[in-house]
Formats: sequence, C-alpha cells, structure tokens
Amino acid sequence: MSRILLSGGAGYIGSHTAVELLNEGFEVVIADNLYNAEKSVIDRIEEITGKSVTFYEIDVCDKSAVDALLDKENIDAVIHFAGYKAVGESVQKPLMYYRNNIDATLTLLESMKEHNVKRFIFSSSATVYGPFNAIPYVETMKIGDCTSPYGTTKLMIEKILDDVAATDKELSVVSLRYFNPIGAHPSGLIGEKPSGIPNNLMPYITQTAKGIRECLTVFGDDYDTPDGTCIRDYIHVVDLAKGHVAALKYALNHAGSTPINLGSGKGTSVFELIKTFERVNNIKLNYKVGPRRDGDIAAFYADAALAKKLLNWETHQTLEDSCRDSWNWECKNK
Ligand code: NAD
Ligand code: UDP
Repeated sequence: MSRILLSGGAGYIGSHTAVELLNEGFEVVIADNLYNAEKSVIDRIEEITGKSVTFYEIDVCDKSAVDALLDKENIDAVIHFAGYKAVGESVQKPLMYYRNNIDATLTLLESMKEHNVKRFIFSSSATVYGPFNAIPYVETMKIGDCTSPYGTTKLMIEKILDDVAATDKELSVVSLRYFNPIGAHPSGLIGEKPSGIPNNLMPYITQTAKGIRECLTVFGDDYDTPDGTCIRDYIHVVDLAKGHVAALKYALNHAGSTPINLGSGKGTSVFELIKTFERVNNIKLNYKVGPRRDGDIAAFYADAALAKKLLNWETHQTLEDSCRDSWNWECKNK
C-alpha cells in the first residue's frame, strides 16, 4: 500500500483526487493551509469514501513543517496541487504568485530529497503552450510565451522539475497539463468554491442560474470559430482526478520527467456549453454578449493520445455529466 501526500489536497482538484486515490486503496495525507479551501472538505472526502484522511494545516512553503510531516508520515509520492491560480490576480500581484507557487515547489522538492521520496506529480496547465502553438496541443511542442505570471510559474516549475530529474536518475516526475476542469463529485459533497466573483466560465454559469449573478457575459462572439465564441477543452474533474491515479501508477514504475496533457481532446465553444447547461438542467440562462476579454486565445484543446498511451487513461464523463454535476453542486452548497 502506498501513502501519498497531496499538497493543496483540500482544494477543488485535490479533494476529488483524494477521493479517487482512497477508492483505489491508496492512503492519503493532505497538507493545505486553507488559503482557498475549508476544513470541512476533509470530512466530506471521508464521508464519500468511508475512509480516513490524515490532515496537516500547514503552508508547504514552511520547510520545517514539511520536514516534520515527511519525518512522520512515510510518504511514497507527492502530488503537488498547492498554489495560487487566478490568472488576472497574478497580473496584479506577480510577486505573490512567484513567491508562493515557486517556493512551495522548491520546498517540497528539497524536503523530498532529504527524505528520499522519489515520485512527484505536478499540477501544470495548458497555459504553458502559450498563444502561438497550433491546435491541438501536443506535448512535443515548444512551450513558453505565457501571457500571465500565473502561467509563467507553471512554465518555470516544469523547467525546475526537468533540471532536478536530470540530476537524479531515480526521480520520477509527471507534469500534468490540465485543460479546463469543470463539474463536481456526483454526490454534491465536494466541488469548486470560488471566492468572490468567479473568473471561470462554469462557476459563473451556475451562479447566474442560481440568481447570485444577474447576467453572464459571453466574452466576444467575433472570434474565428464556427459560432464566433472561444473554444476550450472542458474536462470533468472526476476524470481529471482519475488521471492523477493513473499518473501515479506510471510514476511508480518510470523515472524521468514527463509532461502529459489531461484533456478530453474535444473543443467546445462558450455558446455550446451554455446551451448544453440549459438543456441538461432545464434552465434558461440570462446571458449577453460583451467585448472580448484581454488575453483570451480563440481556441485550444488537447491532443490526448499520450495520456492514453502512457497512462491508459481517457475521459469517460460527457459535457452533459459536467453540466449536471456542476449544477447539483451549486444547488447543494449555498
Ligand atoms: P484550489 O485553489 O481549489 O486548490 C489549491 C489548494 O492549495 C487550496 O486548497 C489552497 O488552500 C492550497 N494552497 C495554496 N497555497 C498553499 C501553500 N503555500 N501551502 C499549502 N496549501 C496551499 O485550486 P485547484 O483548482 O484545485 O487547482 C489545483 C492546482 O491545479 C493548482 O496548482 C492550479 O494552478 C492547477 N490548475 C488548476 C486549473 C483549474 O482550472 N482549476 C487548471 C490548470 C491547473
Ligand atoms: N468566458 C466568458 N464569460 C465568463 C467567463 C469566461 O465568456 O464570464 C469565456 C472565456 O472568454 C473563455 C472561456 O469562457 O473563452 C473559458 O474561460 P475560463 O476563464 O473558464 O478558462 P480559460 O480562459 O482559462 O481557458
């Protein structure tokens, strides 16, 4: 049995991954400073799985706290979710983003080295492909030219991981490049809880449907896409979570540093997502078309072949499942 540390494991993607790991028989230790999560998430994970989680309320930039955890817990692998993730905020507060995201990674890697922990799964992002690559995005493409400090932290961390893996032949690193995670656990017990006004499309849709926001603005319908709105690769968070279990199993048997896309391989426009949400949940959404949002790329989606080849992983949840589960979560959690 393996014991896995999830930094940032009380957050949106980490909590779903904890559930899937526990369901597969792994033991889970979560380290989270609750900057963007609530302690009750730990109870919810335990409620869903009927298994217990060891929780540390610590900042993973705090080396002595991470050392104490690794001294005690006999960890086999680390899945590193902890970080700040708001693209717009990162433009306003770059130092805060570089400090937290880079420092958290370096601290974990240093402590892992001292404790002989050799497996590391990292939450990267499709944003590392930048605005100039052709679609679909393939892992062999040159990455860079990120348009925000947030994206640049992901790029820098991938580079750090490559360099560190090159000096330690036993180290196994997988950088998972997520596309657009949406949805929630079908139980409605865990999901995404944005603080303040949501930046992302799906929470804005569910909050508008709930009446928390008056009207959704579609950011531009004059893009060079079939219906004029932007295209993204939306992936159900439970599929994404299962991708981490698959990546962990891969990392247990392969050394080196490997980037892998986690996406569905399908593009969906903003209008398509709105229409699907309305149809599945039998709701009329109040929305209007507004100007483009600065920095948005017209269209991108994943080439998902490498995840299938290396991890034997692919998505199973549909866009309809994501729309239904996002709404269920919004309704159950005021
Ligand atoms: P989230 O904010 O829900 O989860 C991150 C967790 O990390 C939070 O619980 C937060 O409290 C914790 N945290 C932050 N800094 C910490 C620190 N120094 N020490 C301890 N805990 C800390 O975000 P999420 O959506 O679950 O994303 C998880 C990871 O995936 C992030 O690294 C994010 O950048 C990356 N990612 C997310 C998306 C997305 O759309 N959600 C897309 C691509 C990549
Ligand atoms: N979007 C929108 N209205 C919103 C939020 C997002 O039209 O209130 C669009 C945005 O322009 C993009 C897509 O929805 O084309 C996904 O945006 P999100 O911020 O969720 O993801 P990202 O831009 O990071 O891919």
